Amino acid sequence: MNTIRIEGTTVQDWIKTYPLINDLIRTKEVFWSNPKYELFQTGIEKTRFNEKDVKDAEERLKRFAPYIAKVFPETKKLNGIIESPIIKIPSMQQHLEQIHGLTSSGQFLLKCDSHIPIAGSIKARGGIYEVLKHAENLAIQHQLLTLQDDYSMIDSEKFRNFFSQYSIAVGSTGNLALSVGIICSKMGFNVTVHMSADAKKWKKDFLKSKRATVIEYKGDYSNAVEEGRKYASNKPNCYFIDDENSHDLFLGYAVAASRLQQQLKDMSIRVDGNHPLFVYLPCGVGGGPGGIAFGLKLIYQDHVHCFLAEPTHCPSMLIGLITGLHDKVSVKDFGIDSITVADGLAVGKPSGFVGQNIESLLSGCYTVNDNHLYQLLSALIDSENMSLEPSAVASVPGPIRLLKEKEGQEYLRKHCLTDKLENATHVMWGTGGSMVPKEIMEEYYKKGLEV
Ligand SMILES: *Cc1c(COP(=O)(O)O)cnc(C)c1O
Repeated sequence: MNTIRIEGTTVQDWIKTYPLINDLIRTKEVFWSNPKYELFQTGIEKTRFNEKDVKDAEERLKRFAPYIAKVFPETKKLNGIIESPIIKIPSMQQHLEQIHGLTSSGQFLLKCDSHIPIAGSIKARGGIYEVLKHAENLAIQHQLLTLQDDYSMIDSEKFRNFFSQYSIAVGSTGNLALSVGIICSKMGFNVTVHMSADAKKWKKDFLKSKRATVIEYKGDYSNAVEEGRKYASNKPNCYFIDDENSHDLFLGYAVAASRLQQQLKDMSIRVDGNHPLFVYLPCGVGGGPGGIAFGLKLIYQDHVHCFLAEPTHCPSMLIGLITGLHDKVSVKDFGIDSITVADGLAVGKPSGFVGQNIESLLSGCYTVNDNHLYQLLSALIDSENMSLEPSAVASVPGPIRLLKEKEGQEYLRKHCLTDKLENATHVMWGTGGSMVPKEIMEEYYKKGLEV
């Protein structure tokens, strides 16, 4: 491996410059605070997106709300807005604080995208949004729809026939395909899903039951996306949802921030200079967590601190950020296998534009090993009766890691947060889970008790 060069530099030299890479190669759990983190006012200037972009996505979702409420009755309560609950988790908090000898660490909240309507994962934000945006563009172009219409009229044979002339393709480890597959099947689009060999069988079976075409590839996720991209470019009327490059996905995710703001207000939770907000987001290619972090920074600026969580065997965003190579580097270049139970995070290569756009706004990253994911999964079921998938529980150790690890404590000191922790709110973003079949969740649970 000594002779392998990554962007012209040997692995040995990369390690010399960034010693943390050595720990990543040995798949040790690490905590990294971002040396490029900046105050909001300067950091925000380095991004290509702004408030208007997020607002535009939010308005589009509102236009579609009457349609969503009509075709997905489970969204009626929220008038067709696809949003998840947020809950206090006092028993889990007590459990974690006890194990780790912590007191007065603030309040732990779990954002339950595991139980978001329609698709049971964070992908119900970005994935559904991008399909809706594409559908709106097509319908407007063909003069079937205007921005002023009541979009519930989209629930008709006329629209389903219209959309059936078009197809949508997506590369996915699973959850993105579920979201895209469900909404496409509802609207009438044909959908082709390009999946890597390690995608879970139940996800493939579910998609087939929704009449999606599932194409499997031997290689990894990046390979499946690559193949999907090729496939779509050769087909007329085929639109490719590009998880590694999509601005629409990113903005669809970013809308979560204003929703969270309202939920915190409703809970009378303050976020300001004396009441910091910490948010922990499981990260795959980065669109989901990056989009949400971006949206939160726009709202709370320097009062919110966003951390990404990755599996020890797949620290793709972290390696991209440390080296500054972003999508030009895969964890495999460093000999890391990217094999993990956290299938939603099992991508070797991060999105390029996400890392570049949020690198001055992110507070840091940490990695979690699979055994810890299993343990946390079981503990969350035992303490709160909440079933999350392995990827999603990567958010759960966030507060502990921040408060216990040396780099975390330095971050807190540097930003004068140490004496404000009692007033802090820690949001663990539980990114998925309710679609996982019961037997499989049961296996995860047992495994968590054993390890
Ligand atoms: C996709 C996914 C993520 C991460 O989102 P990215 O956009 O890939 O970074 C996290 N958790 C779950 C459960 C997911 O499905």
